[in-house]
Amino acid sequence: MRRSYDIIVIGGGHAGCEAAAAAARLGARTLLLTHRLETIGAMSCNPAIGGIGKGHLVREIDALDGLMGRVADASGIQFRLLNRRKGPAVRGPRAQSDRALYRAAMQAAIHGQAGLTVQAAAVEDLLVEKSGERAEVRGVVTADGAELRAGAVILTTGTFLRGLIHCGERTTPAGRLGEAPAVGLAKTLARLAFRLGRLKTGTPPRLDGSSINWSVCEVQAGDDPPTPFSELTDRITVPQVVCHITRTTAATHRIIRDNLHRSPIYSGRIASAGPRYCPSIEDKIVRFADKASHQIFLEPEGLADDTVYPNGISTSLPEEVQTALVRSIPGLERARIRRFGYAVEYDFVDPRELQPTLETRRVAGLYLAGQINGTTGYEEAAAQGLVAGLNAALGLGGREPFVPDRADAYIGVMIDDLVTRGTKEPYRMFTSRAEYRLHLRADNADQRLTGKAIALGSVSARRAARHKAKMAALAAAREVCEGLEISPDRAARYGISVTRDGRRRNALDLLSRREVSFADLRRIWPEALGTIAPEIAAQLEIEATYARYLDRQQRDIEAFRKDEAVAIPADFDFASVPGLSAEMREKFALARPATLGAAGRIAGVTPAALTVLLAHLARHRRSVA
Ligand code: FAD
Repeated sequence: MRRSYDIIVIGGGHAGCEAAAAAARLGARTLLLTHRLETIGAMSCNPAIGGIGKGHLVREIDALDGLMGRVADASGIQFRLLNRRKGPAVRGPRAQSDRALYRAAMQAAIHGQAGLTVQAAAVEDLLVEKSGERAEVRGVVTADGAELRAGAVILTTGTFLRGLIHCGERTTPAGRLGEAPAVGLAKTLARLAFRLGRLKTGTPPRLDGSSINWSVCEVQAGDDPPTPFSELTDRITVPQVVCHITRTTAATHRIIRDNLHRSPIYSGRIASAGPRYCPSIEDKIVRFADKASHQIFLEPEGLADDTVYPNGISTSLPEEVQTALVRSIPGLERARIRRFGYAVEYDFVDPRELQPTLETRRVAGLYLAGQINGTTGYEEAAAQGLVAGLNAALGLGGREPFVPDRADAYIGVMIDDLVTRGTKEPYRMFTSRAEYRLHLRADNADQRLTGKAIALGSVSARRAARHKAKMAALAAAREVCEGLEISPDRAARYGISVTRDGRRRNALDLLSRREVSFADLRRIWPEALGTIAPEIAAQLEIEATYARYLDRQQRDIEAFRKDEAVAIPADFDFASVPGLSAEMREKFALARPATLGAAGRIAGVTPAALTVLLAHLARHRRSVA
């Protein structure tokens, strides 16, 4: 049967779900095709969402009315704000999820999305036709030979492209344990001449919680009360649990060292790069040989499931070695393994094949999002899915694309990093990747992005109304604070010492001082500030703390945006620029930067090359005009 959709999304993982829901929210008739309906929203690795850098992405996804924050709130069994002792800019909200609740909440959100059809199918090929110079996608072909037509296709197949699972000396073709690899699509991408690379990731063994001696493990409690990810969640209603921590021992390290030759990474059977920041236990023992012990977080997989995910011992050693190493860890001496750990190797597409909209340069209408673009992690995948879904729908409607820049969002930082620099190892988000960290905070994601999403028309009426009410309350509170003034003498009577220069300070000036909190202001002006809601007060506190630095950062952002405004035409011929070295030409041609700013961020590009490029662009513009 041939049936037409506006957009077909392939893959029901984190990227696929966000892409499909975002496209449908913008009114596109969308079809989500995935191997098995029951694995929609499955967390293939650890049951947790957020963390440092990643938590910012989740807040931004939520600000754009994506699903991940709400789903994490509906399934979170332990919430913690990481880096609490550091400044608000680098705090990372994180939640331990109940794996089954997460999947159920994601499936409910997907099935409840108007305009979105879901179907189980394995996609084998893409329908691509030549249209003038460029190829255009027309739809997909499923394993049973059915052709499904669409105006745009979003590919989000994660680790499934020619996936190969390694456990000790055994290798099995698979995308994820128990699921078939996508071989047909990998061939399609190679046929279309996409540059492909190979990466690997891994997962630890899963343990039977009833076989763990919890009494010798350190207890790690969550935040009380838990703070939700989503602006739409008032309160977390899922019961909360504690997690536990244990450590590797000298015996663990000895077992691993003695068996390194049996690990596919060290026996040479896996040559591709793995996640540097989430290494296997074999990697840790080799790379940090002088470290006596490594922490292991024993994370519950769910309220009704006593399986435990030992975060920190991802491994692809043979099964009997996994058993021995687990049992050398305090508390796990009698642990039963329910599922052994493994590593998976897979194809990814060089993300420099993509435009900042996540549409491929080679095939019009074909978008890629998620782990297929060389990233690792649910949050990175979801954020890309959301951007691809929005842009596919905007593109079909002939509308301007949605491309957040590095000063708008961590999402902008990630996509810019990927499409201009590419990646040699699984890319994960960190706060250190962002230049404008003080501005890109988790707490102000809604202020940065929800207005843009409302303008796109991709936000529910409920979120739009809430956002407008919150922005109005913030503006009113700022105005009240600016109107409340105090002399140095009077401030001193409240225990706040400011320079006795006779100058009156307003409430926000006082709040910008490290030692002054909103509660202190309420003591001075109980009536004027008594009605300000706690979350608005907390926001003002953060803003005042950073006010001085944010002014400076704003100037940096303006300078950055000046270079971003110098656009480089998509068909610009870098080879025609006289005065550029062959090396620079090659770098530009590979990354095809969309702006002068992006050209400057390509690794190894020199300031001299940028000057030459800028001069040539100016000449090019004059000759076209
Ligand atoms: P996935 O969640 O993998 O979803 C892909 C979807 O595509 C699936 O629904 C699949 O059924 C579907 N699909 C694939 N091929 C086809 C086809 N031909 N037709 C139809 N449907 C298809 N991340 C970390 O941050 N840290 C880690 O330590 C870590 N370890 C991992 C270990 C393992 C073993 C795996 C598999 C993943 C690990 N991850 C880790 C990565 C994390 O799971 C992914 O980054 C995230 O799930 C990627 O989301 P995605 O949407 O891109 O792909």
